Amino acid sequence: METKQFKAESKRLLEMMIHSIYTHKEIFLRELISNASDAIDKLYFKSLTDDKVGLGKEDFAVWIYADKDARTLKISDNGIGMTAEELENNLGTIANSGSLKFKTENKLEEDNQIIGQFGVGFYSAFMVAKKVTVISKAYGSEKAYQWESEGVDGYTITETDKLNAGTEIILELLEDTEDENYSDFLDQYRLKSLIKKYSDYIRFPIKMEVTHSRPKAQTDEEKEQKKAPEYEEYIEIETLNSMVPLWKKNKTELKEEDYKHFYVEKFFDYNEPLKYAHVKNEGNANYNALLYIPSKAPFDFYSKEYEKGLQLYSNGVLIMDKCSDLLPDYFSFVKGLVDSEDLSLNISREMLQHDRQLRVIAKSIEKTISNELKKMLKNEREKYEEFWKAFGLQMKYGIYSDYGMNKEKLQDLLLFTSSKENKLVTLDEYVTGMREEQKFIYYASGESIARIEQLPQTELVKDNGFEILYLTDNIDEFALKTLHQYKDKEFKSVSADDLGLESSEKQEEIKAKEEENADMLKELAELLEDKVSKVILSKRLKSHPVCLTSEGDISLEMEKVLNSMPTDQKIKAQRVLEINPEHEIFGKLKALSETGDKDKLGKYAKLLYSQALLIEGMSIENPVEFSNLICELM
Ligand code: ADP
Repeated sequence: METKQFKAESKRLLEMMIHSIYTHKEIFLRELISNASDAIDKLYFKSLTDDKVGLGKEDFAVWIYADKDARTLKISDNGIGMTAEELENNLGTIANSGSLKFKTENKLEEDNQIIGQFGVGFYSAFMVAKKVTVISKAYGSEKAYQWESEGVDGYTITETDKLNAGTEIILELLEDTEDENYSDFLDQYRLKSLIKKYSDYIRFPIKMEVTHSRPKAQTDEEKEQKKAPEYEEYIEIETLNSMVPLWKKNKTELKEEDYKHFYVEKFFDYNEPLKYAHVKNEGNANYNALLYIPSKAPFDFYSKEYEKGLQLYSNGVLIMDKCSDLLPDYFSFVKGLVDSEDLSLNISREMLQHDRQLRVIAKSIEKTISNELKKMLKNEREKYEEFWKAFGLQMKYGIYSDYGMNKEKLQDLLLFTSSKENKLVTLDEYVTGMREEQKFIYYASGESIARIEQLPQTELVKDNGFEILYLTDNIDEFALKTLHQYKDKEFKSVSADDLGLESSEKQEEIKAKEEENADMLKELAELLEDKVSKVILSKRLKSHPVCLTSEGDISLEMEKVLNSMPTDQKIKAQRVLEINPEHEIFGKLKALSETGDKDKLGKYAKLLYSQALLIEGMSIENPVEFSNLICELM
């Protein structure tokens, strides 16, 4: 008989189990029962549409048998079973265990953490058993197979006999040691309490033959003599679990721990959730739901690979693992499940998309999520900011996408960094803090906060004591453009032409100066013809000589973002070069223009334009020319 080797990864997990000093070895039972229940789920689901299965709901069960003499514990199910190939693939390679990805070294302490946090699956059996035998017959298959292993040395698969489809797992328990009493796992009371503790919600009955004792019937004579009764043992089949899934239980019965544990187990997240909600909805949509907000974005969250969705149950039967129609894209980070009586079980996945009831449920779920987020923002600000750091970007995309259809729903959930102490603020907080004379909600965009703070364009707005929203994500400006306004206050870029804060005196003054220097400005614009659409005198600059702004809908930041996308079409903002009339350089330009030194004026124009680009965090078009021009002047 050929002994096969475990795949490297599996071997490591297995070693971890065998040498585990984990104190809660008892969880092996939960893992095996959970696998059995999943297998039954699969066959049960088939039985609903396929009469050939020949089993009704009440026929499905997980059985536990403890044999003290043989020191074996057997967990048996009449689920879907496994073929020889599946035994090989599922038990020889543990591909699904996300647990190993998190570790690089085989440190015991870490192991314990992993075992504790995750469902470690089938291999956990090796924490308590020296030998594991799996006898399985796949539904629809003629043959049954036996998988057997004593640990890292490998496993064998041989043909065997088994009457019905399903799987039996037989554990030959380890010898008792000073620290660990493995025999305990053969004790019926211990087994009963473990099942109650970990597997109570399993939807199928977990049955065991339980031995009780009762007084024997006495003869009249014995009764008269008041003889102490003799006791006799009898066996009764008991169902050990209540079969009520967590989400159908009363909230009052459940502790925070129950919800969190369920999440970590079910959704394979190493981190506890940031927030959870247990929803019981009645009315136009009848459903129970468990909704979770993860504390960290999954590594593939902002990629195409990420699949959003909630598990969908119809009256306790899982019908879809990731029902994407239940979540809008902007809440795609939510994990959880929905169980409704209103959905037909026989509905196909294609039809589900058009199901009216499903849409009603989705709407209601969306409202719940939105309310939960609002509550968190109001009452648990720190937590919300943590949430925002993980998933805020997704919600800003939500403002922008679908032509702004959802902006009203999302705008009050947004946070932006404010120029005041660099704290995160909501739009409402910004507007509430606006000065009386302030007309606009100001924003400035750039690569980083540090970079934005240095932008010359922010000077004037700040000098007026107005708060500025710092936009550092690519999507930010697009989102604000989509919002257009908030509580009747328009958004205004600090680079915009009309900031609405120059006094009319100053306006007049600049206007007069522009008229006075109209020829020179025109000349400069001509010299920079292919680069800017206008050269103007700046109303906003104080200490800086120049800055670059834009007219029209597309800002310089948006130009950067749009051009970083993989399309051939290059987009250009209409650039405006602003010159500070109070700066020395202005006098220089004027003098050159008056003496008619066109050549030099052209060089100065190019230099100033390049400087403005650099300040904006953009690259200059011709660095060699720029460098030569500087040298020439020096
Ligand atoms: P997980 O359950 O997380 O996928 P496990 O290591 O517990 O990982 O199990 C590996 C696979 O073996 C399961 O995904 C399932 O396909 C199969 N399996 C385990 N136990 C059973 C069982 N009792 N009946 C049928 N298949 C099973």
